[in-house]
Amino acid sequence: MKLVFATHNQNKFKEVKLLLPSHIELLSLTDINCTDDIPETAATIEGNAVLKTEYVRSHYGLDCFADDTGLEVSALNGEPGVFSARYAGENKNSEDNIDKLLKNLAGKENRSARFKTAIALSINVESVLFLGVCEGTITKVRRGDKGFGYDPIFLPTDFTETFSEMSMEDKSRIGHRGKAMRQLISYLSKV
Ligand code: IMP
Repeated sequence: MKLVFATHNQNKFKEVKLLLPSHIELLSLTDINCTDDIPETAATIEGNAVLKTEYVRSHYGLDCFADDTGLEVSALNGEPGVFSARYAGENKNSEDNIDKLLKNLAGKENRSARFKTAIALSINVESVLFLGVCEGTITKVRRGDKGFGYDPIFLPTDFTETFSEMSMEDKSRIGHRGKAMRQLISYLSKV
């Protein structure tokens, strides 16, 4: 089975490839010669995941899935949420996003947060959504050098290492994307 994972993010691609059974041939957007920046203009992470699969389906006619992830911080009323990628502004990067988050959380007692990943699957004529959630807290300083995005400041509940301090395998076992991916894999095993 050939399946496109609609992402340009190599870190995500590696995480996801690690989880998929070997009979599924995973293709990235690069593999299908898609260099477009697919618009993520929906109001929810679920909506953005669906937009990405619809784009691949309508432009390339291929079976595909896409994820969209948001970090919700309780003391910031669920921000940055669907705006996680652009939290510090359109042309800013993950370092800027982390700086802004740590600044906005400074002095706040409650540092609880959760990562949510929505995965949309478009296979044949069917569209299905899966959701994975990982609860945790935001650390006061960055810790670790693995992973990407907000990983250096996310400490999952009941663990002593941030996502950036743990291996990709451990992050996938307990993390938001791994949880959503296992639902996707279980679904694919029945089609
Ligand atoms: P998107 O799902 O690629 O749109 O990501 C939204 C934002 O969340 C980006 O800033 C990513 O770097 C960040 N992000 C997505 N997944 C993860 C993750 O697993 N760990 C940390 N940050 C993430």
